[in-house]
Amino acid sequence: MKTVIVNAHVISPGVDMPCAAVEIVDGKITKVAKAAKPGKNDWVFDAKGAYVVPGFIDVHLHGACGYDVCDATTEAIEKIAEAKLAEGCTTFLPTTLTVGNDNLVAAAKAVAEYRKTTKFSKVAGIHLEGPFINSKCCGAQNPKFVRKPDMKEVLAIDKISPVKMVSYAPEQPGGAAFAAACLKRGIVPSCGHTGAKLAEFMPAYKKGLRHMTHFCNQMTPLHHREIGMVGAGFLIEDLNTEIICDRIHLCDDMLRLVLTRRNLAHVQMITDSLRCSHCKDGYAFEMGGLKVQLKGGEARLVEGGNLAGSTLWMNQGLKNLRDVSGLELKDLIRVTSWNQAIELGLGDTLGKVEKGYVADLAVLDAKSFKVKAVFLDGKRRI
Ligand SMILES: [Zn+2]
Repeated sequence: MKTVIVNAHVISPGVDMPCAAVEIVDGKITKVAKAAKPGKNDWVFDAKGAYVVPGFIDVHLHGACGYDVCDATTEAIEKIAEAKLAEGCTTFLPTTLTVGNDNLVAAAKAVAEYRKTTKFSKVAGIHLEGPFINSKCCGAQNPKFVRKPDMKEVLAIDKISPVKMVSYAPEQPGGAAFAAACLKRGIVPSCGHTGAKLAEFMPAYKKGLRHMTHFCNQMTPLHHREIGMVGAGFLIEDLNTEIICDRIHLCDDMLRLVLTRRNLAHVQMITDSLRCSHCKDGYAFEMGGLKVQLKGGEARLVEGGNLAGSTLWMNQGLKNLRDVSGLELKDLIRVTSWNQAIELGLGDTLGKVEKGYVADLAVLDAKSFKVKAVFLDGKRRI
């Protein structure tokens, strides 16, 4: 049976097509056109002029709805995946914290269990944020669990459930070789929670490192005599920079700087959302042994006040990108899905509303960007 989404305002990289129709057969997009004639037996969904965009891909998020990936239960992964789907996010990388090896192993087992059924948003693999970070740039990660880059530990986890990304500090001894070892295994090495100067970063770059974890946050700032990692992000075009678009982690001017001065093919929106995402204000919790409280929409460590992560939803993030930059959605939309898909090796099947692509789609209200519907493999799930 064919599914036809009519009255769709299709937004896809390089495409802005109002009054369009999207045809879906067997979970794949078979046609995107100005006009469609649904057959008698076709299932028709009227988008009523709403945006139809590629389902979001979030490569960096820790939790939602009171659950964290490091709770290491299948229930936690399932609840997080359900919350992500409600944001229009159809693929994600459950992201771990800097915790002990036993906790990482348990989290990987929970992810593996979830992947057997994948009831909600799809998991493309695990993102290990730490534990191989710089203990001076922990942010809200617990320094107690920081350790040296260790490929054996990564591979042991990868065996349980595939690891797709590792955020680490490349200035550490063996940092460049670690990047090369990750790439050899199809894992994206990412520079994050780092105190590297530009020269200390370059050996890992030369080995192929092309990703930066939450650009500007927990990395060396730009100084006019040492441009640090923030300077590197502006100087080097092909670094894929994650940005948290909650307008708290980066001020609007920095978001504008990134979106207007960097090549949008190398920018990726993330939420870095914590368990307090989708929760009410005042919610308090522990993260990697540290106390965090949600106040006025900001999740901060009770002690010291460091930002601990965000409560952002992907659909709101896209609206923030548009509102702050004034750029066109057809240019911004690659920042929320396709760029991520390309880096994860899925760029031929995910991240576009185009013939041949998997019908993972989010339908957003054209004013508020609220999620009106979500399609997963062509089936309406929300
Ligand atoms: Zn994070």
